[in-house]
Amino acid sequence: MTNDDYITYEPLAFTVTVDNLEFDDNTGFVIQSDFASLIHEWWHYVQDVATVTGQNGVYLWLRDMARISKITCSKVGEEIHIPLSKDEYGEPMSKFRKLFMLFCGEKEEHRIEQAKITAEPDIKVFSLGLDGEKRTLPDCRLQINSKEFLFRLIALQELNCYYAQKIAEGYVQDKPKVPADSLPEFPYKVGDLLFKYYGIECDDKVKFLISFLSLDSIQAPAVFLKVLESFKGQELSFDNDIALIEKQFDKVATSYAWSNDDIYKEWMKDYNNWMFDQGRQYLAKSIEWFVAKIILADAFRNFEGKSFFVRVFCGNIKSLNQLYLSFPIPIFKKNGVLMGSSMIGNNNTIDFGNEHEQALILRYHKRLFDLICIKDIKDMEDKATCDIFEDCPYRVKVNKDYDCKVAVWEVVQGETKAQCPYAIALHTMGLWQNRLVVDF
Ligand SMILES: [Zn+2]
Repeated sequence: MTNDDYITYEPLAFTVTVDNLEFDDNTGFVIQSDFASLIHEWWHYVQDVATVTGQNGVYLWLRDMARISKITCSKVGEEIHIPLSKDEYGEPMSKFRKLFMLFCGEKEEHRIEQAKITAEPDIKVFSLGLDGEKRTLPDCRLQINSKEFLFRLIALQELNCYYAQKIAEGYVQDKPKVPADSLPEFPYKVGDLLFKYYGIECDDKVKFLISFLSLDSIQAPAVFLKVLESFKGQELSFDNDIALIEKQFDKVATSYAWSNDDIYKEWMKDYNNWMFDQGRQYLAKSIEWFVAKIILADAFRNFEGKSFFVRVFCGNIKSLNQLYLSFPIPIFKKNGVLMGSSMIGNNNTIDFGNEHEQALILRYHKRLFDLICIKDIKDMEDKATCDIFEDCPYRVKVNKDYDCKVAVWEVVQGETKAQCPYAIALHTMGLWQNRLVVDF
């Protein structure tokens, strides 16, 4: 079992599923032997909201949502046919999400004995046409024991979480139920292999820092490899070399990627349009919540330096807890029930209720997006049902069990008020005034 089977984070749904974890009944805290596993998944959430690559995933998805909502909301009494027809460029409506998924790569895990990098990592660039523009993506490849592996965003995110998990293990006494060391070599230990290949002497904190700073540049996998190459044969220490490492990122990241400030400027134009959209008030509020997270992360970095997140994480368990309180996991899913909770640290004054509510609305927009963008009937089976049907706290109020179970998009037909987060998403997308028709 690997950590990501034991406990999972759903990107864009801001949800950590904790069925296997144990919590102390008295404190509500996760027990010590599950602590580092929880931190691994929480860190995926931090990557989503606090690094430019994670934020880009949300932005590109919302861009597709905005385009799709133009089709689903513009008229009244229409039938919207699924699968959706192509756009004016002959491209699918979910193309920006697809672009991001290409950049992300597939999730694969491999156990490799005596793993070693056996050739110089290779960075090429590939381009594709989208929306009438040419887009370029880095294509990074590695050889481990002479076998080729794609090194895309997801691999970098995982190896970064591996260090988060390892460092968190050092904060508790009990032996972890799923130790970081037991994880497969690919992708989790690829960082270790690369640091070794480049002959860089350093501890896990430095590896954690360099991989996290890479995630905060738009061409992350290529930037990671280039920064490592630039430190070839050097010895780095967390206590003395943070400033040196930050400087190297300024140099390498700016020659390999656009500046984050330019990207933020681009995004904010769109976010402003979406946030002040009178017709989609619930979604607008949720986007506002997400943008507030981006701004908070950016403010920390501006005031405290690029390495703020990792420095605080690596300080001690108290400062890690403080960081958690600024970016708490908004949704926990335990045995089919969605809940919001602080879980670690309950003596705080932060309103987790709002985090939970806003994230829930985005979560259900993502579910609806996945339904609207299905490719085939098989894909539909799982998406047609609400995923919390069995234990749904809203079911009595909604009182439409049949629709929730077989055709959840029908829930808002003839209803002027949305009674649950999924229904809010349906309303936002105009599916109370227009009907979804599945045509395969
Ligand atoms: Zn993971």
